[in-house]
Amino acid sequence: MSSENDATGAEAAQELGEGPAWDVVVVGAGPAGASAAYAAAVSGRRVLLLEKAELPRYKTCGGGIIGPSRDSLPPGFELPLRDKVHAVTFSLNGRLARTRRSKRMLFGLINRPEFDAGLVEQAEKAGAVVRTGVTVSRVEQHGPAVPDRRSVAVVLSDGETVLARAVVGADGSAGRIGAHVGVKLDQVDLGLEAEIPVPDTVAEDWAGRVLIDWGPMPGSYGWVFPKGRTLTVGVISARGEGAATKRYLEDFIARLGLAGFEPAISSGHLTRCRSDDSPLSRGRVLVCGDAAGLLEPWTREGISFALRSGRLAGEWAVRIAEAHDAVDARRQALNYAFAIKAGLGVEMAVGRRMLAVFERRPGLLHAAITGFRPAWTAFTDITRGATTLAGLVRTHSLARRALDVLDKRA
Ligand SMILES: Cc1cc2nc3c(=O)[nH]c(=O)nc-3n(C[C@H](O)[C@H](O)[C@H](O)COP(=O)(O)OP(=O)(O)OC[C@H]3O[C@@H](n4cnc5c(N)ncnc54)[C@H](O)[C@@H]3O)c2cc1C
Repeated sequence: MSSENDATGAEAAQELGEGPAWDVVVVGAGPAGASAAYAAAVSGRRVLLLEKAELPRYKTCGGGIIGPSRDSLPPGFELPLRDKVHAVTFSLNGRLARTRRSKRMLFGLINRPEFDAGLVEQAEKAGAVVRTGVTVSRVEQHGPAVPDRRSVAVVLSDGETVLARAVVGADGSAGRIGAHVGVKLDQVDLGLEAEIPVPDTVAEDWAGRVLIDWGPMPGSYGWVFPKGRTLTVGVISARGEGAATKRYLEDFIARLGLAGFEPAISSGHLTRCRSDDSPLSRGRVLVCGDAAGLLEPWTREGISFALRSGRLAGEWAVRIAEAHDAVDARRQALNYAFAIKAGLGVEMAVGRRMLAVFERRPGLLHAAITGFRPAWTAFTDITRGATTLAGLVRTHSLARRALDVLDKRA
């Protein structure tokens, strides 16, 4: 990883009054930021990626990599898979467990520190300059720190200012850049997770198999994702029921017979989904990934949303960087918003409908996926990336009709 000193060439250019040092500055080096930096850098632009943590850094996440995530990785990127999932055990709050298996891999499991650092390395290889241990305090698009109308000032916590023609905010679910853009949310959930090291005998029992448990609170669920000698065990539920969510995780771990093993890491993180009318840009600043509230509302799958929106943000940020006036910059920002809404926006709309059904009728969903072959096939098609939830509803009249009926009942 580059140290802060690597940016000296660009800083010198800035001090010499040679205009904005960077075409694109990306804030946050998760999958969204690394993808944005990669996309902007491969097109030959000067790109700076700023990350407040030192990498590799821990991120509360199951690390489930479904087909659309695999399809959105930079060319040649080797996924650091810790396990390949061929079987899923479904249970309904600990009851009615049933395991379904598949000869073909359903999805992969990664450790986020390793995966995220690998993506940042790809962006760096493509030409992006990476500065870690640097916290962005705010961005300014007007005022004394901004030398001209084509620049954005990115102000760091130590007071240093970096200038850019375009900024991509990829600073996660509680990000500063999302606040600057005015991202509006209509769903906030709390995810709790424990990384539990287990003996070989326990690890062998889980190898290649995950568990998904439909939980006791509306819209909640839990999971066990095995990664060799460590099991990632987590639960997610609507925010505002912190004590109940914590109890669910404790009960879940106890029920699985894992309470005797000391977690190496226990952590929590909020996930946030944007409202339909939430902005995706302001002036020369775009937001993507969790910072934009782009997340699948039902499963809270966010890595593919981060990778896909990050790539688009990087590509459109390059066009904003080239825009000669505010009107042109606005046109490019609107094009970015259109691309997001036409793809991920449609997926989120179907996810919201699925969540509404799941909140009311978790038992029905459990019965369908464990006892009705087309539902299991749909699950496998989605996790492998053969289709998406939205694609399924669009192309399969049975899926569309089933969702319509369930919608009405819910
Ligand atoms: C419990 C839980 C389990 C999950 N499991 C899965 C799963 O199995 N599969 C899946 O697809 N998704 C999962 N998700 C969702 C997924 O983790 C996120 O959607 C994904 O991490 C979003 O990536 P991102 O790049 O947008 O943000 P992040 O990964 O959060 O990255 C943001 C980065 O910005 C940096 N940053 C923040 N503020 C600043 C600042 N001011 N200056 C500089 N840098 C800053 C942070 O340090 C961080 O590195 C899960 C989420 C939770 C909470």
